[in-house]
Amino acid sequence: MGHDHHHVHDDSGSIGFAFILNLVFAIIEFIGGIYTNSLAIMADAIHDLGDSVALGSAWLLERLSLKRGDRFFTYGYRRFSLLGAVISAGVIIAGSVFILFKAVPRLFSPELPHAPGMLALAVAGIVVNGAAVLRLRGASGMNARMVAWHLMEDVLGWAAVLAVSVVLLFRDIPVLDPLLSIIITAYILANVLRNLGKTLGIFLQGVPANTDIEGIERDLRACAHVLGTHHTHVWSMDGTRHVLTTHVVVDSCATREDILQLKERFRAILAKHGMSHSTVEIEYSDEECRIGDDTCGSDARSCRAVPGDRDKRS
Ligand SMILES: [Zn+2]
Ligand SMILES: [Zn+2]
Ligand SMILES: [Zn+2]
Repeated sequence: MGHDHHHVHDDSGSIGFAFILNLVFAIIEFIGGIYTNSLAIMADAIHDLGDSVALGSAWLLERLSLKRGDRFFTYGYRRFSLLGAVISAGVIIAGSVFILFKAVPRLFSPELPHAPGMLALAVAGIVVNGAAVLRLRGASGMNARMVAWHLMEDVLGWAAVLAVSVVLLFRDIPVLDPLLSIIITAYILANVLRNLGKTLGIFLQGVPANTDIEGIERDLRACAHVLGTHHTHVWSMDGTRHVLTTHVVVDSCATREDILQLKERFRAILAKHGMSHSTVEIEYSDEECRIGDDTCGSDARSCRAVPGDRDKRS
């Protein structure tokens, strides 16, 4: 068997780096949170611990997702990186709920945290998370993007902790600490839920955003000899690699040469529309559609028996 030189953008290394950094920092935060009696820091510690679990699973799954197709998963293992994104979201949601349960009662009985300690941890948080964000810049997978976004929010969160700790150095306003932890948590939760929605949309085989199905069909139908299209289905493997299947009806006088030319045209059109794995079934106009209408509701007959058959010859 020959050597298969296959170039794939490897997000795994970046996620592995972020995982180790996060785990070490979560432990430091835990100790720091207890020492400073700051709920905002404790919230971040639990949060970062959750992140570490999420990053660890994302790391393993992202590596798995680079595996090529086999007889068990014929499309390859791309979708396993989506599973990582769902697990990440689950961990972060659970962690956020826990933080809210701790922070809300503290609003009514605030305790003064140790401001200089908070300040030192906030600076460390900005440096560590900032380094991880820089490492993940340019990664394109759904998983890596979600992780990068998340770390970016962590940096902003630490910037807020920094600001609050500076205020607490000069003023006794202990309620700022639980208040900040609630704001950070609510913000992160909102983003995670939005991302989870996108990931579930991919799992449920929704049409990917920015995919213009009408435009694709219009372009296919504009080709010589093509009378119509039906059973056009588009879904996405992982948010970046889209799969298309469609049936194209051609007039019954199309020759072998015409069909070969059409296939080249189709390939160019589908590539232009960002489809990375497409399957086109070509049917002659006097042929029955072999799928029919019942499986998905596509009307195969609408583009058959077109009276203009003769006019479309070229
Ligand atoms: Zn169909
Ligand atoms: Zn294939
Ligand atoms: Zn058909």
